[in-house]
Amino acid sequence: MQSRTVSAFYFDGKTSRRYAVELTVDAGIAYLSGEVQRQAPITELRVSERVSRAARKVTFPDGAYLEIADVDAFAELLASTGYQDSLVVRMQQSWRTTLQATAALIVILVLGYVYLLPAASGVIANALPESVERRIGADTLEFLDQRMLSASTLPKSEQDAIISRFRALRPPAQDAPDYQIIFRKSKIGPNAFALPSGEIVVTDELVRRLDDDDALMGVLAHELGHLHRRHLMRRLIQASAVGTAAAVLFGDASTLIATIPPLVLDLKYSRDIELEADDYAIAMFKANGISLKKLAYTFEKLDSEPTGFSPYLSTHPPSKERIDRILKAQAE
Ligand SMILES: [Zn+2]
Repeated sequence: MQSRTVSAFYFDGKTSRRYAVELTVDAGIAYLSGEVQRQAPITELRVSERVSRAARKVTFPDGAYLEIADVDAFAELLASTGYQDSLVVRMQQSWRTTLQATAALIVILVLGYVYLLPAASGVIANALPESVERRIGADTLEFLDQRMLSASTLPKSEQDAIISRFRALRPPAQDAPDYQIIFRKSKIGPNAFALPSGEIVVTDELVRRLDDDDALMGVLAHELGHLHRRHLMRRLIQASAVGTAAAVLFGDASTLIATIPPLVLDLKYSRDIELEADDYAIAMFKANGISLKKLAYTFEKLDSEPTGFSPYLSTHPPSKERIDRILKAQAE
């Protein structure tokens, strides 16, 4: 049965000239008559989505297309040929479904942020060139040196003793990163942190508070764990996801790097990340035959730090849970 006839304009897809045509459909074939004669099976045609009153577009495989202003007549023609708007189109026409779709999208974004981004950040961290990490580390140290760190007052011999003591310990896992232990006097009390460039910064105040060499090894082992697992890079990438995506896509890391030093100051690791670094320290102590009681002592000692501005405590919340885990590992 032949369908009704609908007026349309035909464009060849190459020039802007428009041709007045009539469209009919018969037995699954679309026929154009008028200024252009053409026919094509309707299965080869692409029909644009229905967007309120906008003219609809029917595209031929070669790029030629029809513009149909009489959307109601065209809708009738489609209906008579058994054509149905795709599910997506019909759903878009219902505001209620649109709201539901928006809610679903938000859920997907949140899930992506919570679950996908941490996973992706590990991949990105591993893909970043070493030069980027070195620069981030150098810039961050410079930033901190200008604001809250100054040259260490620990005797060189004491610094060297700490360094060689830690160097003598075997890391618990293969491919431990290159690291460098450096000392600083700080305005912010006992602190230790690892920069992506491999520097483990230890403050004089931390060394004095942990008046026990093994306990200090515990802090260093924990920091080496952060370094080995690239925790800081992963955290930074999460915290600056958009900038990072741009840096990775466009190969320009400078915008990303500029935002990082202030971020580091504000950084908190998740509980899981802290426990992962603790586990690394536990494994390192075990691998070197040092009692885990010493490691527990590390956190007890830092826990007794009087409250106040103490970034080590804010970024590394020592807790009964962590000490209990260490002592449990000792018993195993
Ligand atoms: Zn930590």
